[in-house]
Amino acid sequence: MELKLDLHTHPFEAMGFPPPDEKSVGAIIRAAKAKGLDGIAITEHYSPRYGFRAREIVQRYFPGALLIIPGQETRVGQHEVVELYLDDALTFKFLAHPQSTYGFQRNRYEIQGIEIENFLHNDYIDREGALRIAQENGLLLLKNSDAHLLEEIGNLYNCLELEELRRLVLEDGRTKG
Ligand SMILES: [Zn+2]
Repeated sequence: MELKLDLHTHPFEAMGFPPPDEKSVGAIIRAAKAKGLDGIAITEHYSPRYGFRAREIVQRYFPGALLIIPGQETRVGQHEVVELYLDDALTFKFLAHPQSTYGFQRNRYEIQGIEIENFLHNDYIDREGALRIAQENGLLLLKNSDAHLLEEIGNLYNCLELEELRRLVLEDGRTKG
């Protein structure tokens, strides 16, 4: 089933780092549902903690309301890489808002996707380079909000099946041997 997913958001930062509880997670759910999303990845900088806690709170207090994929945004060399933690210990990685793709080597980043649009950084993305890299390496092209305000969640999103992310991770593992 195709889902409407924003795979790059910073709701914890957007709310000023509140405790992960019914109130803060409820606000995230409302913001995402207002844009008609089926789910979001919570990808705070350098920590997946809030995303995992938020998912627990959804499961406990708002079952079925919104799919939460825990993740984090990290830095690899000169680039930002977003990691998404899927079921069965699979990690899907994508290059976030590539401003320059000069000297790109896939094996250094181990990504399966690349942002071609990012609501926050759209003016700076090297789209031509991103497209070329995606074609050469079979990467999934993604459009995400990179929301740093709750109301920005879902300003860009993808229509895809979770299974597609899993398949790309599994295939990537096989080609690396
Ligand atoms: Zn970001």
